[in-house]
Amino acid sequence: MNTTRRNFLKGVSAGVVCLSLGQLGFDLKEAQAFAGTIKIEGAKEVISVCPFCSVSCQVIAYVRDGKLVSTEGDPDFPVNEGALCAKGASLFSLYSSSEHRLLKPLYRAPYSDKWEEKDWEWTLNQIARKIKTVRDKELILKNGKGQTVNRLENFFMMGTSHASNEECAVIHQAMRGLGVVHMDHQARV
Ligand code: SF4
Repeated sequence: MNTTRRNFLKGVSAGVVCLSLGQLGFDLKEAQAFAGTIKIEGAKEVISVCPFCSVSCQVIAYVRDGKLVSTEGDPDFPVNEGALCAKGASLFSLYSSSEHRLLKPLYRAPYSDKWEEKDWEWTLNQIARKIKTVRDKELILKNGKGQTVNRLENFFMMGTSHASNEECAVIHQAMRGLGVVHMDHQARV
């Protein structure tokens, strides 16, 4: 049998727990019944890749009855050896819905202490209007030597870790198109 690091770890940890608790005289029936209810029980392991950065950590996706039930780092993959950073560790939350997830934009007017629910059309129009107003006013066309620069220095773009490499590439191009020169990304931190 080809023993992977993952199977070896599973076997060792189960063996150690059963041996030590059993030897101490604990009744293991309850623990074994609980183990039958864990969320990956009976799930199929599907190897996948975290999409958030080019490290490309390998992930085990647990699928049961055609539904994703959990994700975790793959201990057999040499790049990440089972570890995932905060973004990779939150991969499952991309798929699952949570009562804490916002489904509509919230807007707080200047000096207000309340958030108002807005629809996407209103929100995107607001953002586009503000970007255009600032850019029209602040775009620097030429530098001190008279060279064309088309530079917007009072914008800052901060990328989110929940954007994939491809989304980041598109956002980057859009920002450069506006003349934005100050950009960073949370995934770098
Ligand atoms: S975002 Fe984190 S978990 Fe995902 S590939 Fe990059 S380093 Fe790995």
